[in-house]
Amino acid sequence: MTDAPNVYDAEPIPDAARSEIDRMLRSGDLFRYTAPEDAPVSLLEQEFAALLGSRYALGVSSCSAALFLSLKALDLPRDARVLIPGFTFAAVPSAVVHADCIPVLCEVSDNYRIDIKDFEERLESDIAAVIISHMRGHTSDMDAIMALCEARDIPVIEDAAHSLGTTWAGRNIGTLGRVGCFSFQSYKLVNAGEGGILITDDADLIARAVIMSGAYENNWCKHFKQMNGDLQKAFARWQNELPLYNMRMSNLSAAIIRPQLAEIPRRVRDGRQGHDHVAARLNRSPWLEVPEALAAEERAPDSIQFNLIGMSEADARAFTEEAAARGVKVQIFGLSTDNARAFWNWRFLPGDAPDLPQTREMLMRACDVRLPARLTRAEHDFIADALVSAAEAVMEPVRAYGT
Ligand SMILES: *Cc1c(COP(=O)(O)O)cnc(C)c1O
Repeated sequence: MTDAPNVYDAEPIPDAARSEIDRMLRSGDLFRYTAPEDAPVSLLEQEFAALLGSRYALGVSSCSAALFLSLKALDLPRDARVLIPGFTFAAVPSAVVHADCIPVLCEVSDNYRIDIKDFEERLESDIAAVIISHMRGHTSDMDAIMALCEARDIPVIEDAAHSLGTTWAGRNIGTLGRVGCFSFQSYKLVNAGEGGILITDDADLIARAVIMSGAYENNWCKHFKQMNGDLQKAFARWQNELPLYNMRMSNLSAAIIRPQLAEIPRRVRDGRQGHDHVAARLNRSPWLEVPEALAAEERAPDSIQFNLIGMSEADARAFTEEAAARGVKVQIFGLSTDNARAFWNWRFLPGDAPDLPQTREMLMRACDVRLPARLTRAEHDFIADALVSAAEAVMEPVRAYGT
């Protein structure tokens, strides 16, 4: 029998990173602006923009920094209202607060996607910008969201922190809105420990973000191989006009990220196969349900989410205990203590505590299990067996333990 799989360890960093890191250790060349050109961070930006099909990219210290700089680059006034989903990671409302804006939450459905009707209603409440979190890679209806926002001229920031490799109608997630933000924290598809990147086609926006990320004096020249007329005008317009928040990426992070870009297609393919295999097995249980992806969505999952059907809160808690006894850790977003994805734990939000009954109900039965791309089929089956039999043990004790 297979041992309970370790779902927390990351994959090894490709060997190709070693010679570059060695070079840096010898030269001390860790700061992106030391070299006159072709610093690893600038090369990563060019490669990442080309990979996603965007004009510009900016490497920063985290996805949270990318979200913060995106809001600042949009030049929103203080206390601007920013619409975000009620199901996301606490870093998202935090970035909004950090940018002196006010987070406004909308309802999310039991398929983990934004409730478009509620979204449309709240869009009318003086919203200046929208952040769409493709939470755990689940993509909301981006056709509907973009149409609603474009009709009102409201800019969309995509929080694609955990969605690298996901596509919507054949287009890369992160390229649909005005800006897309990604994370290189260790639990994401590409792992540098910490790090983030934003992508955009907007010259004015990238110029503002680059300067505010800490391109003091004329260091922004080192970001680009060639500067087109739009970029030159944008930098001339914003030079010395903006605060420097210093959220730069280090060359060391870029050296760890760059050789992983070639691994993305394999990680996406294996992650999707593993996820779909486990999903098909869970869906055969009457007690477990993996919501279907939307038709336009091709996911790149490294975890699986499913809902508990017909279980009380006590049953749900018993299910996590039975699964743990079988070696699989299940987190129920709304039942695990201090979960950073449960909106009622965001007590730093200004104003009254948000009331999102539909999202709350979803969070109370939505389970989260990690499924990194490196797992084997035997490990997928181990996890599926554990989850299905844990549900049976709670809901059909006679059948599970019967003579
Ligand atoms: C991880 C994550 C973030 C934050 O990324 P950091 O790089 O850790 O700041 C934001 N949003 C979502 C959906 C995430 O999964």
